[in-house]
Amino acid sequence: MSFVVRCIDCGHKAPYFPTSINCPRCNSQWREAEYDFETIAKSLPLQLPARLFDLWRYKELLPVRNPNPTIMLGEGGTPLIQAVNLGMMLGCPNIFIKDERQGPTSSFKDRQAAVTIAALKEAGITEMVAASTGNVAISYSAYAARAGIKLWAFVTSLVPAVKMREIALYGSQLVKVTGSYDQAKQVAAEFARQRNLYLDMGARTITSVEAMKTLAFEIAEQLTNVLGLSTKPNKKTRAAWRSPDWYLQSVSGGMGPLGVAKGFSELQKMGFIAQVPAIAAIQADGCAPMVQAWKNNAETAEPVTSPRTHIETLATGDPGRAYTLLRKHVSDSHGVFESVSDEEAFRAMHVLAKMEGISTEPAAAVAFAGLFKLVRSGMIKPTDVVVVNCTGHTMPTEPFVLGDNWARNVVLPSRVMEETPQEGLLAALSRVAPDRFPRIAIVDDSEEARRLIRRILQSQGNFTIFEAESGKKALKLARKELPDLMILDLMMPEMDGFAVLDALRAKPETASIPVIVTTAKELTPEEKGKLKGQIQALMQKGDFLSDEFLEEVHTLIG
Ligand SMILES: *Cc1c(COP(=O)(O)O)cnc(C)c1O
Ligand SMILES: [Zn+2]
Repeated sequence: MSFVVRCIDCGHKAPYFPTSINCPRCNSQWREAEYDFETIAKSLPLQLPARLFDLWRYKELLPVRNPNPTIMLGEGGTPLIQAVNLGMMLGCPNIFIKDERQGPTSSFKDRQAAVTIAALKEAGITEMVAASTGNVAISYSAYAARAGIKLWAFVTSLVPAVKMREIALYGSQLVKVTGSYDQAKQVAAEFARQRNLYLDMGARTITSVEAMKTLAFEIAEQLTNVLGLSTKPNKKTRAAWRSPDWYLQSVSGGMGPLGVAKGFSELQKMGFIAQVPAIAAIQADGCAPMVQAWKNNAETAEPVTSPRTHIETLATGDPGRAYTLLRKHVSDSHGVFESVSDEEAFRAMHVLAKMEGISTEPAAAVAFAGLFKLVRSGMIKPTDVVVVNCTGHTMPTEPFVLGDNWARNVVLPSRVMEETPQEGLLAALSRVAPDRFPRIAIVDDSEEARRLIRRILQSQGNFTIFEAESGKKALKLARKELPDLMILDLMMPEMDGFAVLDALRAKPETASIPVIVTTAKELTPEEKGKLKGQIQALMQKGDFLSDEFLEEVHTLIG
């Protein structure tokens, strides 16, 4: 993987770091990854046959330096299913469904989460904030759990409760904002700014847009397998992968189709396909700022301040610049923006379930309702090869599994928000969580052990966590940060846990820091004797259940 990020405003090229989001020259936040397409075009086709069918098979075209198997969940590589019954009903035999329900958390957001969390993990990030209409938070939560990243997920109170409960089940910090999705985004941004935490930037997140490209790559490979090589190969390279005539997807913020369109155009640039498909972006009538702008032939979309749709997943009222960028792809590809009513989407859900055995969430059905509309209007022709992204499936987490207090509530008082929005926001945020959390130092020479303990703590409570990988660093850390608790491994090279304890107890300022010792081996009576009176608890590694461990932590710092 070698690439640069190019600013789409001033063209400046810079190396990529997930945490630096502005162009160093013009400060723009709209940048995209650019690869050495010429080299990759030659090498990739030779590599592909030996690779697994998951999204990492295109790793040369992804912004992650070292794909990390320890956080993977089998992302990408979803089936492309021919919709025979639907095709017959519509008089279009070549309709294919890209079944993104079969991702690890049952929506296409898994691609975004897999790549973005991998990049953040690579950059050493351990805590982050994201606003979501539901599925991003679910998917980020799953990957964050594996990566040892704590996620503050801000969702609107209209997100279906089953989705909120799934987010909570993964151990993320769930914050429900009573307001619109655009307001939830503002609250999240302010929270991240106050606490200096990494904030997910939606469609401006380079890794997320790049992740969505893999949909295009997979579709082209899969269509070629099903339909055979294309009869109109690329003029220059004569490569003849298939691309569909149409690609349809339901749209909220627009990141999905932006990434997919970039993917198809990269395939064309590399000479694998002759032509990119027409992109059809489908919105819900009650929140269709992009469709409005498209019909008015406008470059920018007028925000919808109070979305009127039951399909919360698609309730981005203000798409911002994502619309302007997507409009170019749609227009260049001779595609279209279209919207459908909630009722049409619900009807499409029934058709899809009853005709194809595919149960989707309403947001995914919006794309199918759009398909029906475009076929009926004659825009999609009977001979066209059509791929529809089946973006997601709803999964229930039963309320009794979680018990109480699995979310925080932020209620924005409407009068205050109208008159003094900044004050209203600050008052509401101060109730989300206190500014100071108990401080815990984890000392262990094994990275996996540190990640496990960090994750146990993250998923169950709010702590400020420090890590040290050696005894020496632990002492330095203890003097600098004065933790409320240290979790100390006994067996470490050079300076072991016994020596750390002696040194801690020898200095007045660190003498009283409570210590939980973790050990992988059975201790001898002499060793146990040495610890006596020096530590608050002894936990056997591989044997402590997280509940028991947490109880210990809470009694020591509570
Ligand atoms: C997020 C989402 C969409 C909308 O995708 P955007 O890329 O945000 O426009 C559609 N369907 C489902 C199931 C989603 O989760
Ligand atoms: Zn720039």
